[in-house]
Amino acid sequence: ILGIKYNAIKSLENWQLDLYTIKKTLNNVKIIYICNPNNPTGNLINQNDIIELLEITQGKSIVVIDEAYIEFCINYTIVHLIEKYSNLVILRTLSKAFSLAGLRCGFVLANQEIINLLLKVIAPYPIPEPVSDIAIQALNRKNLILMHNNVNKLINNKKKLIENLKKCHVVKNIFPSKTNYVLTKFFNSNHIFKALSKKGIIVRNQDHNIGLSNCLRISVGTNYETTRLISILQELSSY
Ligand SMILES: *Cc1c(COP(=O)(O)O)cnc(C)c1O
Repeated sequence: ILGIKYNAIKSLENWQLDLYTIKKTLNNVKIIYICNPNNPTGNLINQNDIIELLEITQGKSIVVIDEAYIEFCINYTIVHLIEKYSNLVILRTLSKAFSLAGLRCGFVLANQEIINLLLKVIAPYPIPEPVSDIAIQALNRKNLILMHNNVNKLINNKKKLIENLKKCHVVKNIFPSKTNYVLTKFFNSNHIFKALSKKGIIVRNQDHNIGLSNCLRISVGTNYETTRLISILQELSSY
């Protein structure tokens, strides 16, 4: 939107960081932005690679790690590294595991120095009071437990979804997921996308993305939704 120059560095074939290319293009880079776990692939980025990047960019660039989906694999957060690396910024949101996408609230975790910089440029009164009231409630002990229980239920549903997807003949490959969606490669994703859409099931088409041809990103739903999706895919598999 602001016309800032950016370099998008393609990930390796295993969807890990291409540190070799990243290192070559670091000159004058102010911010490096990495989504972990990644969207739409659902994989984690190797922590050692992130640490290496933090080491070589110290005093030069800010490394922003977008942890939008981290509650689905909270053991892999790198929040503890903030103490060690003054150039690390972590982004979180209430839009995913907290089910509060409509609230439009997220937060930044970083060292005081970076927070102070943000305070200089942030608009006055940026968060409406009803939003901050609800955000505070969402983060209290009782509601954190609720979120945690929902995450566990979702992870169970994900297991069931993956087991059943494996049995569908229209499915070519299912990629490992640490998130609340499963990237799935079909033999003919456009056909599947349309058939699901006709039945009122919306998945995210990734067919246009580099390296993701014939891939759909399926969000993990409720038990009922998973069962319905699988029965439609099984029907499509029987032709
Ligand atoms: C959802 C999401 C966010 C956060 O979105 P907001 O609703 O604007 O808080 C950030 N990064 C990724 C990759 C996401 O999928």
